[in-house]
Amino acid sequence: MDQKISALLDSYREEFVRTLQAWVRVPSVKGKAEPGAPFGKEIARMMDLAVETGRKMGFETRTFDGYACDMTLGDAEEKIAVLGHLDVVPVGDGWKKDPFGAEVENGRLYGRGSSDDKGPSLAALFAMRALKEAGVPLKRSIRLILGGDEECDWQCMAYYTKHAEMPEMGFSPDASFPLINTEKGMLGFELRFPAAAEGLQVLEMATGERPNVIAGECRALLAGDQALADRVAAFAEKTGLDYRADVTEAGVWVTARGIAGHSAYPEGKRSAIGMMLVLLKELGAKGGLATLAEAVGLESDGRSLGCACADEVSGALTNNMGILRLENGEWTGTLDFRCPVTADQEKLKAEAAAHLPGIQLRLTTQKPPHHVPADSELVTGLLAAYEEESGLKGEALSTGGGTYAKVLKQGVAFGAVFPGEEELAHLANEYESIDNMMLAMKIYANALLRLCAG
Ligand SMILES: [Zn+2]
Repeated sequence: MDQKISALLDSYREEFVRTLQAWVRVPSVKGKAEPGAPFGKEIARMMDLAVETGRKMGFETRTFDGYACDMTLGDAEEKIAVLGHLDVVPVGDGWKKDPFGAEVENGRLYGRGSSDDKGPSLAALFAMRALKEAGVPLKRSIRLILGGDEECDWQCMAYYTKHAEMPEMGFSPDASFPLINTEKGMLGFELRFPAAAEGLQVLEMATGERPNVIAGECRALLAGDQALADRVAAFAEKTGLDYRADVTEAGVWVTARGIAGHSAYPEGKRSAIGMMLVLLKELGAKGGLATLAEAVGLESDGRSLGCACADEVSGALTNNMGILRLENGEWTGTLDFRCPVTADQEKLKAEAAAHLPGIQLRLTTQKPPHHVPADSELVTGLLAAYEEESGLKGEALSTGGGTYAKVLKQGVAFGAVFPGEEELAHLANEYESIDNMMLAMKIYANALLRLCAG
């Protein structure tokens, strides 16, 4: 990249750290809506601070009633968008540092939101500043759009799209490098079936709160005594899976321990609900439970549901049963499919229904996939910038998760977690490496030069 721009970026280091500290110190967790603050007053305060940062750098800034703000460089009609967000998820347990202290230690800046997504958003803003200060002529202008509701409902982008013109092309620094150009489609179902009168009787079970989480533990109270507990132990022995049975006055409490995770990334995980289902069937459960044990069980690829499929750009379909609970003699549950770009979602819906006789299926979510071709100007430009600045190999990847990028017609997720780096978004002790942010800043400047200079 241009020496002058590179030197400018290096010169921002201290100011970048100071500014990011100020941003991280605002606990911008979603709160109660107030006039002018649809996501609570801390997110409104954060948005004011971001706008002030942009204005001080000399950008034209706008705010959208506390939902989102934007900052623009250049006046060309055609625009490249950079989409980030200012809200953060709640703190959670296990912090060894003040989650809003923005303490710097060993080159890391600690705090909720430091990596998701204040650090990367601010790195993009400093990249824009370097282009501005270097006086680069632009054939496309650059618009940084920061939302206040990414972690919850994306109302920010809905509002922005309604009140401003969303550029067609751009990237979101809210995931990981090298680049994600493919997001799978989604199908979500609610399941419903009556508890069977015959066979093994389940007295209590209520596992899972969110469809998109692979349950790590599942407990159920079964009608039975020591003999049943012995059969559980024998099944554990036979399968090598982690089951425990405790005989009580009320019956046998069985605990299945799997490996928790996000439903879009089932590799190396094990659903405790799936474990419970195969055990219940082994112990003589009938009806819908037996059907689910056969059609889903421990699978996360939809095979026995007739839904397994894959393609080159997006990989294989994944499936997760995140919730299964018994209430007043009725079972309810969820299925969460992440579908390859080329999958026929109507066919998947029909297959799932056909493989679950006796179970009512209600479609709760249907989202189309998102894909930007790997040979597009956007993807090739960003990957070239990444390779040039980082010296690492660039490649376009697929995700089963959702990123901000799909708000744009031609949008990709681009950074800022580097390959091999700890992924700390939403976890305790979230931090951002300052060296990595300085590198991300160079990558973003390089990318924006490729797309916009001229
Ligand atoms: Zn994020």
